[in-house]
Amino acid sequence: MCLTFYEVLLSKLQQVHYFLKKWPNLTSMSCKGNSNETLKRKVVYVYSPQYIETCDSLSKVPNRASMVHSLIEAYGLLQHMSIVKPHVATIEEMAKFHTDAYLEHLYKISQDGDNDDPQSGDFGLGYDCPVVEGIYDYAAAVGGATLTAAQCLLDKRGEVAINWAGGWHHAKKDEASGFCYVNDAVLGILKLREKYERVLYVDVDLHHGDGVEDAFSFTSKVMTVSLHKFSPGFFPGTGDLCDTGLGKGRWYAVNVPLDDGIKDDRYFQVFTSVMQEVQTLFNPEAVVMQLGADTMAGDPMCSFNMTPVGVAKCLRHVLDWHLPTLLLGGGGYNLANTARCWTYLTGTLLGQTLASEIPDHEFFTEYGPDYSLEISPSCRPDRNETKHLDTPAGVVLVVGKPRMCVRCIW
Ligand SMILES: [Zn+2]
Repeated sequence: MCLTFYEVLLSKLQQVHYFLKKWPNLTSMSCKGNSNETLKRKVVYVYSPQYIETCDSLSKVPNRASMVHSLIEAYGLLQHMSIVKPHVATIEEMAKFHTDAYLEHLYKISQDGDNDDPQSGDFGLGYDCPVVEGIYDYAAAVGGATLTAAQCLLDKRGEVAINWAGGWHHAKKDEASGFCYVNDAVLGILKLREKYERVLYVDVDLHHGDGVEDAFSFTSKVMTVSLHKFSPGFFPGTGDLCDTGLGKGRWYAVNVPLDDGIKDDRYFQVFTSVMQEVQTLFNPEAVVMQLGADTMAGDPMCSFNMTPVGVAKCLRHVLDWHLPTLLLGGGGYNLANTARCWTYLTGTLLGQTLASEIPDHEFFTEYGPDYSLEISPSCRPDRNETKHLDTPAGVVLVVGKPRMCVRCIW
């Protein structure tokens, strides 16, 4: 049975390999920079007290935006970044991706927080996307903040732009999904496409970046790469290795399904082997990276076993390309660990070494009992099994059983 599986898969992989030989963007671009250099990027940080307050009050992660911002501030990182006030997205701006019917419905029910409107079910509202008063304003704030960040990159106000309260990658054009009411990642990519021919989306959230992949599944101008947990019954249920895009977008969606328990070293190995090929073959001009922190050890999702150090290594790999880069948040349900992770990543970008002891600040007590910036991996087993198979298509790296990492196709 195993043999049959591999025979079928290898024949598919050889087809892919053949296709890639004919890839239109094969002009290889060497990675500028060197992974040992200290990062010190010109960074734009999208922030206003009003924006944080809006995200705190309506999100599925109460006060998380405040916790993240407060920790970044407490470590003295704000002084090293350009702080830019986000604008609120207009309905026309959100309609670049979302349908008028969805946005108009969201606006209507947002007025009084009507959670019982019979039409809401058609738009994915209810259950894990509850309707509360002001939900439209929240969506417009998040969408606007990511658009502001993207505009800063277009205007060359920074090499990197951050919206940690963004990254809501599940929302569809006419449907809220998985806590996501607006797909700000898609809006950010569309904004960058106004100037850049090829935009790469990289998603390291625990969950498949389905909304973004769907949005661009038919185009070769946006490549989406998602590394995620893929397991029966696990949300959203998509993102298998064989899902590679459709029509003109075929081969421009890359999915790396993983099993529970993966830790920093193996994740980084898989990430770099995929991304080296993606960078060479797609040759992106700009990058949007979603850095959901629900992969962290200690997250209630209890799936991956990562630490901020591993994610930072992945981020560094992307930053070494020296491309305009938009960084977004995403999931992250252990709020303190999420704040630890994104603060550590912000410090990494800025070339700042952060003290292990959490500085005294408004949310200090949330970081007990150790009050330390580090996150220790738990002792759960890594369910991903790695082995190498030699094939005519090259070295095959097998991750998980029986799924294969996309590295095998190159
Ligand atoms: Zn997630």
